[in-house]
Amino acid sequence: MASDQSQIAGVWYPYLSSRQNQAFLTAEAGSLSVVSTEETLLVSDDISAVTITGRVGNIPRRLTFSDGTVFETPDNDAIDRLVFAHRGRRSGWIHSLERFHPRLLVVAVLAIAFTFGIYRYGLPVLVNVAVAVTPPIVPELMAKGTMQTLDATTFNPTELTEEDQTELLEGFERLAVESEYRPEQLKLQFRQGGLIGPNAFALPDGTIIITDELVEMADGDSEMLLGVLAHEIGHVELEHSLKQVYRSAGAVALIMLIGGDIGSGTEDILTQGAGLLALSHSRAQEAEADRRSVEMMLKAGYNPEAIGRFFKLIQEKLHDTSNTSMLSTHPGTPDRLKSVQEYMQELQSRK
Ligand SMILES: [Zn+2]
Repeated sequence: MASDQSQIAGVWYPYLSSRQNQAFLTAEAGSLSVVSTEETLLVSDDISAVTITGRVGNIPRRLTFSDGTVFETPDNDAIDRLVFAHRGRRSGWIHSLERFHPRLLVVAVLAIAFTFGIYRYGLPVLVNVAVAVTPPIVPELMAKGTMQTLDATTFNPTELTEEDQTELLEGFERLAVESEYRPEQLKLQFRQGGLIGPNAFALPDGTIIITDELVEMADGDSEMLLGVLAHEIGHVELEHSLKQVYRSAGAVALIMLIGGDIGSGTEDILTQGAGLLALSHSRAQEAEADRRSVEMMLKAGYNPEAIGRFFKLIQEKLHDTSNTSMLSTHPGTPDRLKSVQEYMQELQSRK
């Protein structure tokens, strides 16, 4: 089928040149040729080797040949006929898509991936966006509110000796220096735990609380307590409590917050903040904080084995019902012990 013998008028540009040469395009048996007005052959290629721009209004079409020369013509209809005739022969819609709308294809694939991503990972994505746009005042207010509530209902002033406090504060300082925060952004506070018993936890503004009961349970093993504090610093660094609060606030509140409806969105979330303690971290978050604690302990010159001792201690107390609060916020202990030990060996073998 020596189909299209007709000539399409246009201009031809030599490689990397803006010099216009009046020329004609001819199509024959699947190949495209450009000839000058003096009938000299300028370039010829198989049509599949020629890049043809898509049709956009009346903008002239550009055909780029494999030698880099360009033929340009305002005759859109003729080019469309040519393309159609070629596609008819080669018959593959994928082929024509790739050929004439590569960007459109990419956009379509991205749009599908994005839609799938929101459907599959929607809430975590929203949570991360919300964390990113949260002004620092929000975690501060959340932490203040939680602290006031706990001081009014559960906590009592610490009865730890000055000595015990100083030892932990100094160790905490050494860990804080190795964190991604400036040391003054992290604060260690001591309290008698009351209802919440032996425990340590982090508030989203960088305040970390350790209870007298946990210090007593450690029975003089202050390095083990520092391992626990490093773990809590890890939670602060990774903004875990804020993420948990936002996760529980749900998609609607987050969209309002991100959309700038600060009034009601923030209010909802701050009320949720009062329930900060009721939220436990996910397994993935615990694992992340565990890894950070190993890194910080090593950098600060402590032995990360101390973290392992803490997990063993919790396991020993597993049947002790008075410690349920801490156990519920630190699940899966045998697994965690194992992965902490593995990570420790991995880091040490790298040195
Ligand atoms: Zn934790």
